[in-house]
Amino acid sequence: MEYLSVTNAQQCILESVKLLEAESVGLERSLGRVLAEAVSANRDLPPYDVSAMDGYAVRSADLANIPATLEVIEDIKAGDMPGKTVLAGRCARIMTGAPVPQGADAVIRVEDTEALSEGKVQINAAVKPGNDIRLQGEGMRNGEVVLTAGTEITPGVTGVLATVKQPQVQVYRRPRVAILSTGNELEDMDDPVDPDKIPNSNSYALMAQVQALGIEPDLLGIARDDPVELEEYLQRGLRFDVLLVSGGTSVGVHDYVRPTIEALGVQMKFWRVAMKPGHPVAFGTTASCVFFGLPGNPVSSMVCFEEFVAPALRRMMGHQRLFRRTMAARLTHNVKHQPGRTEFVRVTLAKGEDGYAATSTGAQGSGMLLSMAKADGLMLIPAESTGLAAGEQVTVQLLDGTVFQGEAGFRE
Ligand code: AMP
Ligand code: MG
Repeated sequence: MEYLSVTNAQQCILESVKLLEAESVGLERSLGRVLAEAVSANRDLPPYDVSAMDGYAVRSADLANIPATLEVIEDIKAGDMPGKTVLAGRCARIMTGAPVPQGADAVIRVEDTEALSEGKVQINAAVKPGNDIRLQGEGMRNGEVVLTAGTEITPGVTGVLATVKQPQVQVYRRPRVAILSTGNELEDMDDPVDPDKIPNSNSYALMAQVQALGIEPDLLGIARDDPVELEEYLQRGLRFDVLLVSGGTSVGVHDYVRPTIEALGVQMKFWRVAMKPGHPVAFGTTASCVFFGLPGNPVSSMVCFEEFVAPALRRMMGHQRLFRRTMAARLTHNVKHQPGRTEFVRVTLAKGEDGYAATSTGAQGSGMLLSMAKADGLMLIPAESTGLAAGEQVTVQLLDGTVFQGEAGFRE
């Protein structure tokens, strides 16, 4: 089987994964979810013309000669309705958000006035009609679509949903994700420490990566490199919407994932991607499950998750921006590269005078999880590059944050 480019592998995955169904959730639990239906305004906001300032509702024509003295006929607070019409030579004291009374065509802020005795006020500035008035419906109009399906619920969107009184919202369901590690050498979290074993870090790093996307995964534990045991575990895993298997996808004689997963009826789309770290990465589907075979090496597993699994999970949840955000940075040192595979180098970022500087987190072996723990992002080296020089501009994919982008944003 041939090696796919990262971009082609991403495309293949995104063509295969489907949007999940919608479900109803309470507004207070909906942050980060994606709306499955459009939402319309249920009234005009503001509901009538209101004052944008604490001040006086006036007739602008009365302020032709400044200073002008006006009679104050009433005091309108937010929540009050005005009782009187403002006639020539008169005004009403008004608070921010209170309805503008009949007759008035502008508001003058209190800072431009001086209260006089006997219910009079001196106005020290002229204003144009409409000054400091928020017009009825300028925020939103009754019946207008204010949020379209596909909108991610950010705090601002939550505010809009509350404004239009939606205690329940229709959002795309989150996938049920299973995580399985494989390997005889692995020791799990509750096993006693055995110096001959390798601690299972992948299940937990993957768990955290899934959680970072707002999904609570199920950990299936560790399957030994035994075809019968592996089959049992894989069968359980295939009942989920998404199954992530770490390790055992390579071509070693004890790498049983490939024959077993195919025997279980998973339609495999690819087994190899031309990338470093991470090339033994596999992808396939059944009618109800999306299967990823991730490399056992801890860094490879995490990088493959970011490049392939994260966009797939986001698509299933209805997101339109699927990819980690990229930014330009300047490299602080030379980096060697053998042409052939797209490389992802773990880097830290520091803000300098002219943008961000990227520096490798150190030794980049695919088993060196500390290089990942320290990293702000993944710097991309195009497959055909023969190496990068200090000072060159590079693309870095940020590993943190909740803002994603529509395009992968890198050149292979
Ligand atoms: P494999 O892909 O099964 O050949 O594993 C490649 C390397 O990754 C081996 O050195 C494994 O010990 C290591 N490895 C596999 N699974 C895990 C895991 N769950 N946690 C930490 N290391 C792992
Ligand atoms: Mg193994």
